[in-house]
Amino acid sequence: MNWEKNVRRVVPYTPGEQPGRQDIIKLNTNENPYPPAPGVLEAVRQIRPEEYRLYPDPDAVSLRQSLASYHGVKTEQVFVGVGSDDVLAMSFLTYFQSGKPILFPDITYSFYDVWAQLYRIPYRTKPLQADFTINPADYFCENGGVIFPNPNAPTGVLESLDTVEAIVKANQDVVVIVDEAYIDFGGVSALPLLKQYENLMIVRTFSKSRSMAGMRIGYALAGEKLLSYLHDAKFSFNSYTMNLPSLRAGVAAIADEAYFQQHIRKVIDTRERTKEELRRLGFSFADSKSNFIFAAHAHVPAEKLFAALKESGIYVRYFRKPGIDNYLRISIGTDEEMRALLAFLKDYIK
Ligand code: PMP
Repeated sequence: MNWEKNVRRVVPYTPGEQPGRQDIIKLNTNENPYPPAPGVLEAVRQIRPEEYRLYPDPDAVSLRQSLASYHGVKTEQVFVGVGSDDVLAMSFLTYFQSGKPILFPDITYSFYDVWAQLYRIPYRTKPLQADFTINPADYFCENGGVIFPNPNAPTGVLESLDTVEAIVKANQDVVVIVDEAYIDFGGVSALPLLKQYENLMIVRTFSKSRSMAGMRIGYALAGEKLLSYLHDAKFSFNSYTMNLPSLRAGVAAIADEAYFQQHIRKVIDTRERTKEELRRLGFSFADSKSNFIFAAHAHVPAEKLFAALKESGIYVRYFRKPGIDNYLRISIGTDEEMRALLAFLKDYIK
C-alpha cells in the first residue's frame, strides 16, 4: 500500500487545447495557418514500405547535415529532437546539474518550471520589467544556468542581440539556453554569438515557422563540445528519437527556402495588420515579433472575452496567472481567420 510514496510526482504542463473539430478558428497554440512546403508531403509519400521496417538513423545525420549547411555550422553543432520540447527537456537534464538555482523570467514559457520540477532542479524567476522586457542585470548573479525564449512567450517581445550577449557573457561558467522558437517571425538570432561563446545553446523548432507542429522536429545549435554532452544524454535515454518520416520531411522543408520566406512574410504581414485593427478596438500590447499577439483590452476583462470567443468557435489562449490574467494570446491565422476574429471582437466590445 506504500508504493505511492516511491513515485515521482509532478504537476504536468498543460498544452493548449486541441479540440479535434474542423469548424473552429484555432488561434490558441501558435501553429502556422499555412501548410508545410509541398516537398515535405512528397518526401513522406516517397518512403518505401521496406524503409518503415527498419530503425531510423539514430544520429539523424541527413537532417543534421542539412540544418548545418543551412545555418553555416558543422554537423556536430546540430542536435535534433522530437520537437524543441524534447531538446529542451534533454538539455535541462544535461546542463543544469550544479545544484544551484537556474534563472528564467517570471513570465515565460510555462514548461520551464515543469522540467525543473521534474528533474529536481532548483530555479528562481526574475520579474520582467513593466514593458515585458528582460533586465539583463537580473541575470548577473551566481546561478546554475539561464534559459529564456527570444522572442519571449507568451508576450512576443524580442530582446536585442546586445541584451542576449550581455546575459551570455556574464554567465560563462554555466550554460545559457536561448529558446528561439519564434525567431523567424522578424527576430535577430543569437547564432553569430556561437563562435564566441562555448556556453551558449540556441534552440529552434519546425513547429511554428515551418508549419510542421505535427511532425515534432526541434533542434539545438551550439558548440561541438557542449552538444557532445547532450548527445551522450540522448543516447543514454532513447537512441531513436527521430522517426523516419520526420527526418525526411525535415530535410525537404529546409530545401525550400523560397516557400519558407514567402510564408513567413504572409504571417508577418497579417500580424502587422492585426495589430492596427486591435489597437483601433481598444487593445494594448507589447510589440510582438512572433506569430502571436499578447493583448489586453481597456475595458473588457480577458477571461470574459476568452469565454465569449470560445463560445463562438474562436479559440485563443488565456493564462489565469497573476500579472498576465488580463491578456489574451492570439496566434496569427490566415487573413480570413483574423477578419472573423476582429469582426467578432468589434461586435462584442461595442
Ligand atoms: N519553446 C517555446 C517558447 C514555445 O512556445 C514552444 C511551443 N509550445 C516550444 C518551445 C515547443 O515547441 P515544439 O516542441 O513544438 O518544438
